[in-house]
Amino acid sequence: MTTTSPTTAPWRATVLTLFPEMFPGPLGLSLAGRALASGIWALDAHDIREYALDRHRSVDDTPAGGGPGMVLRADVLARAIDAVAAPGQPRLLMSPRGAPLTQNLVRELAQGPAPLIVCGRFEGIDQRVIEARHLSEVSIGDYVLSGGEIAAMTVLDACVRLLPGVMGRLSSGEDESFSDGLLEYPQYTRPQEFEGRLIPAVLLSGDHAKIAAWRRSEAEALTKSRRPDLWARRSDEAPAKKGPKNTTDG
Ligand code: SAM
Repeated sequence: MTTTSPTTAPWRATVLTLFPEMFPGPLGLSLAGRALASGIWALDAHDIREYALDRHRSVDDTPAGGGPGMVLRADVLARAIDAVAAPGQPRLLMSPRGAPLTQNLVRELAQGPAPLIVCGRFEGIDQRVIEARHLSEVSIGDYVLSGGEIAAMTVLDACVRLLPGVMGRLSSGEDESFSDGLLEYPQYTRPQEFEGRLIPAVLLSGDHAKIAAWRRSEAEALTKSRRPDLWARRSDEAPAKKGPKNTTDG
């Protein structure tokens, strides 16, 4: 899916899915799409069904112990993982039971080798392959999707925008929600007046120290009121917010 030669090796992610045609999907557009086209990252989406063991290409079976739905088979998935996993690649399984996806995890993934991401379907996947292939379960939130593909795209989108050269300025990712345990301050742009509402005067003052202080205090107030859990978790030694960020579409 890379269209031009990058000067360095791309951050190459691997996805195992029953619907490879869903990829790159929205990741082929805008910021992530441009980065994909320019070779900053690459994506290999593989069809789990290619690794089926029978002539019907079955990938699932009924749950042991009974119950509704179907379960992805351990033997088929293990075969697929063994065939496509690169050495040293983090292995994720998208799963509502997983550790919540956080900006810290995203940063960690973006800074290391791109992950192999397994997308579940049906009732999920056989527990034995999770253990035997050391898959780390990651959840994108406390709700249930019909499959792991959109969750995998969420992980990839969040990582790709942090890769060097993807956003307009190196510091772009450092001054936004979650970067130091705070939600982002409110943003404004022209026109100066909208339906009687004005841009806060401090933002037009040209006084960068005052602007930074205002943003910091707005970010703290928002975090306290909207996300008391984040506020409580925030460590005292979190680094101070940096200056205003660049304008990008990401
Ligand atoms: N029976 C499973 C349960 O109750 O935990 C839900 C299976 S769900 C219908 C099918 C697949 O969607 C999962 O295996 C997983 O890959 C993906 N999925 C669903 N919700 C998700 C979430 N919140 N985060 C990450 N992946 C999710």
